[in-house]
Amino acid sequence: MKNRLLLLLVAATTITACSKKVTNPHTKTNSVYTTQADSLSKILLAENPATLTDSLNQPIPSEFIGTVNFNLRKPNYVIIHYTAQDSVAQTVRTFTLVKPQVSAHYVISKDGKVIHMLNDYMRAWHAGVSKWGSISDMNSCSIGIELDNKGNEPFAPAQINSLLILLAKLKKDYNIPTANFIGHGDIAPGRKPDPGILFPWETLAKKGFGYYSDMIIVPAPANFDSATALRLIGYDTSNLPAAIGAFKRHFVQRESSNTLTQFDLDVLFNVYKKY
Ligand SMILES: [Zn+2]
Repeated sequence: MKNRLLLLLVAATTITACSKKVTNPHTKTNSVYTTQADSLSKILLAENPATLTDSLNQPIPSEFIGTVNFNLRKPNYVIIHYTAQDSVAQTVRTFTLVKPQVSAHYVISKDGKVIHMLNDYMRAWHAGVSKWGSISDMNSCSIGIELDNKGNEPFAPAQINSLLILLAKLKKDYNIPTANFIGHGDIAPGRKPDPGILFPWETLAKKGFGYYSDMIIVPAPANFDSATALRLIGYDTSNLPAAIGAFKRHFVQRESSNTLTQFDLDVLFNVYKKY
């Protein structure tokens, strides 16, 4: 009887020991996330008035008196990317290493799994040097979504399905305007091509996420100013050929050369009227 009890005890200990082996591989980086979030919350709670000095470097009197009416700033854009990496695991590793200095709020795998990596209210590092309209800090006003895709392959249906569901939630939660669902290539022309010519922008536009050209295209008038149209849509036209290439990758999706054919011009005229 005593031996049987001992055997049971050994078995129970073994089971407990085995179950303990199942650990979360992201425990360490998750705790870094918590520490960083804690340090940012301290900034939010600080009640320091702005330190201002006049032209003679004399302090200007200032005081902190907290208002009672406020909440968090909301993201107003969604920027879509492809990862150009081999797997979701590789992307997750990149975004949990300090050295690459890159991140996104969401990563979506080919099978449709959504990995949420940063609270929507926080600023991810996905846009880099970029500009849209007069906004030069896209990271501060946007949610970054990375799609697991090498860049030269069609997007998986399950992945696009999850993306559409996520976009609907973001649009509703933050009241994001239809026009403000754009790609990394749109805000960094000449520097970034993603999400590329194969991305289903038309499918997104049909659901209210971004614009796309209509089925029937009215020819652009003879005096149509394509450079101004691109700028009014939001493109940084300081490098006009690069802006043209970015526009074509998103709205024409035939080829992405840096020159406008008559058809490209007609599409541009059609798209520009929506903005
Ligand atoms: Zn990107």
